[in-house]
Amino acid sequence: MKTILMGLAVVTMLAGGGWAAETRPLVIAHRGASGYLPEHTLASKALAYGLGADFLEQDLVLTKDDVPVVLHDIFVDTVSDVAKRFPERKRADGRYYALDFTVAELKQLRVAERFTAKTGEAVFAQRYPSAVAPAEFRISTLEEELQLIQGLNRSMGRAVGIYPEIKQPKWHREQGHDISRIVLPILARYGYATKQDACFLQCFELAEVKRIRGELGWKGRMVMLIEAKAKGADGTDYGALCTEAGLRELATVVDGIGPSLGRIVTWASATEWKVTGLVQAAHAAGLVVHPYTVRVDELPKGCPSADALHAALFREAKSDGVFTDFPDVTLAWLKR
Ligand code: CA
Repeated sequence: MKTILMGLAVVTMLAGGGWAAETRPLVIAHRGASGYLPEHTLASKALAYGLGADFLEQDLVLTKDDVPVVLHDIFVDTVSDVAKRFPERKRADGRYYALDFTVAELKQLRVAERFTAKTGEAVFAQRYPSAVAPAEFRISTLEEELQLIQGLNRSMGRAVGIYPEIKQPKWHREQGHDISRIVLPILARYGYATKQDACFLQCFELAEVKRIRGELGWKGRMVMLIEAKAKGADGTDYGALCTEAGLRELATVVDGIGPSLGRIVTWASATEWKVTGLVQAAHAAGLVVHPYTVRVDELPKGCPSADALHAALFREAKSDGVFTDFPDVTLAWLKR
């Protein structure tokens, strides 16, 4: 069976030829299968691929030599042994920044399950035990990850998409590095440039989203991320974006929104939950909605189970997809 993505439906080529379209929501592997292996490692991406995700997410930051690498934060000290290997390279704030290291230096680091810099304790206690079961996990570049995904698409006969996020573009520019201008040509070189290509570009900063569409001429799909809080550090007014007028204006720039879960559904108690009108309003404006993040080991406050969360997101709220640390759990729910 071969799967390709047409529009937003998952389309499968049947063994005897012919096509079957599934219009189920998309399973977006959040930082890979990060519930099971350290986030953003190639191992985590390969596992997410094998578990059946439709899209794999890449968070992108730049190195000192302007290479986009796949990391969730502009810091590397909560997912690697940088503090041991390069103790003298921290900034005055005590943090180690990817942007202060060349890609060759970052490649020397070992990646581990996310931990708290101060205590060294794992953020998610039940996840991959890096302390007792270490492995040769490394930071990967955007290109290395695209090669892995396209290689798997070839060997497995599927068409799994990518979901790259431009991280903190305003901060990067203040540091003298234009991350979007570096990432877009790489995406184009790997065949991600139009709305027919299996790629959603995402960003939390409205000014950059507009710049990517305007000045930088991105023609592919794009999603505006929306935080739980009212305003972003860069000044993006998320509250205003979620009004009907805000969504109508967004629809002139992007194809969808990626709001935090709490903007879609909230629980007052295990049996009392409330779906907000955001998905409906976004759909009325012509936008798809991909909320973040399903974590079976860290459910939203008051939510009794992963099943209840999936039911609220998909059956009640009608989300078009979801970012999930556990792509197999989300896919199993959708298939039931
Ligand atoms: Ca992200």
